[in-house]
Amino acid sequence: MTALPPPSKVKLGLVIDLDTCVGCHACVTACKGWNDQGYGAPLSDQDAYGAEPCGTFLNRVHSYELQPEDGPAEVVNFPRSCLHCDNAPCVTVCPTGASYKRAEDGIVLVNEDACIGCGLCAWACPYGAREMDAQAGVMKKCTLCVDRIYNENLPEEDRVPACVRTCPTGARHFGDLGDPASAVSRLVAERGGFELMPEMGTAPVNRYLPPRAKGAAATAPLAPLVEERATGLAGWLDRLLERF
Ligand code: SF4
Ligand code: SF4
Repeated sequence: MTALPPPSKVKLGLVIDLDTCVGCHACVTACKGWNDQGYGAPLSDQDAYGAEPCGTFLNRVHSYELQPEDGPAEVVNFPRSCLHCDNAPCVTVCPTGASYKRAEDGIVLVNEDACIGCGLCAWACPYGAREMDAQAGVMKKCTLCVDRIYNENLPEEDRVPACVRTCPTGARHFGDLGDPASAVSRLVAERGGFELMPEMGTAPVNRYLPPRAKGAAATAPLAPLVEERATGLAGWLDRLLERF
């Protein structure tokens, strides 16, 4: 078992706007492209052009179509990646210490040299945010592009996660959620940003901004969902979608 460090003051993370994400998968592609040739082993694919393709992705987008009784169908796009939890069960369950949370900025990482591929962390993560690389035999996950954000060889505007840099609608934001005055913290406060499945006690750092209600309440954000209680990701999504 691996101990968690004391909560860091700096909490780097993402704020994802469910109102403006259009499900284009540009963030998925940018993430795969950057992380295929940098931090850790490449992200493998199996049967990429065959009948049953699969592969390792650190960021995925799920799209759901809603059909209200009295209106046109709506689509909600839901990007999913590691939320860099403060109370990360994937870290405490790791038998080798391969999974760890950085004290200085709160990023959760995997030391691939120490990973034995047992998969316990994937079992422990309630968000399905870990990916076992079938070829490398080690666990992969979002690194918040730790090899970009501090990289002084890159132009300053590129020192953000690849997904944030590439999103064509500006639906993804990166910053310090431990600083209440940061741009991302202010955005969360203004838009009623919420954490995913708070009942799990994982204290995720990432936040989601709710989709705005349609119809008569079109200009009002949906009520913050932080108080919602669901039994799992599917239940949480059901409750989110019921708001439309
Ligand atoms: Fe761990 Fe999952 Fe939380 Fe990421 S989202 S820190 S993988 S429990
Ligand atoms: Fe730790 Fe790797 Fe096992 Fe996950 S798969 S619990 S990171 S050793």
